Amino acid sequence: MNPPVLPVTRFAPSPTGKLHLGHAFSAIQAHDRARAEGGRFLLRIEDIDGARSRPEHVATIEADLRWLGLEWDGPVLFQSTRLEVYAAALERLRGMGLLYPCFCTRAEIAASLSAPHGVEGIYPGTCRALSEGERAARVAAGVPYAWRLDVAEAVAYLEDPEVLLWHDEIAGDVIADPLSAGDVVLARKDAPASYHLAVTLDDAAQGITHVVRGVDLFAATHVHRLLQALLDLPTPIYRHHALLTGADGERLAKRHGAPTLESVRLRGDDGRALADLLRNGALPIGFGHANA
Ligand code: GLU
Repeated sequence: MNPPVLPVTRFAPSPTGKLHLGHAFSAIQAHDRARAEGGRFLLRIEDIDGARSRPEHVATIEADLRWLGLEWDGPVLFQSTRLEVYAAALERLRGMGLLYPCFCTRAEIAASLSAPHGVEGIYPGTCRALSEGERAARVAAGVPYAWRLDVAEAVAYLEDPEVLLWHDEIAGDVIADPLSAGDVVLARKDAPASYHLAVTLDDAAQGITHVVRGVDLFAATHVHRLLQALLDLPTPIYRHHALLTGADGERLAKRHGAPTLESVRLRGDDGRALADLLRNGALPIGFGHANA
């Protein structure tokens, strides 16, 4: 008989700022999901955004996790060491004819999104319609561009798009609807990969069996499931957990001015006790209000 497959989960913060209580909550969920069954918990630093990532945040993230009692297995994986892997996947998708360069500026995209026919938050596909000649001329003129996935083409490329299923431990079986996300960016103008591409490749490379993350990333899984199908990657089980909210029902996020984990750690609070409070669904004192 085969031994049971033990869960492998990960916490994958971007080192663009300090961790807050919501991060702690998410890391605990991922950690406990694996450890409860004797599985492995990994740490991945999502630092492809060179302009916003700061190495000093990495040490703080590690210290915060240890303080919470969340030890990870093995070495930390840094996305910045995997750029060649992302480039190769991008090349493969380009070879399949599923990518197109997008020259739009943020302002142009914002303007088209507010147009009467724009679907909120969805790229309207402006650059999809460019001819090869127009593309070549813009590239020659040095106009910066991102690479977008032609999602309709990609779905059509699959022999059986019906297979775009994933299982979520909370939402149940889900049929991916990648068209709902529009033509997402897979390589940014200012970064050699996008979140979607890097996270999908890394979850596969690290053998993640259960992706445990906040429900705010649920919609992204439609895209990740499509990329798995296109790149012959396994599909993990997902667990999109509810987000931590304050007493007012509002999501606890940085903008509420909540204290960072670091500030609470440095003032001498017990991190393990804080983690246990979160496990029990309680909000530690001083964290519970929008302007705490
Ligand atoms: N790096 C992402 C973030 O900090 C999380 C990625 C994921 O869990 O899929 O929001």
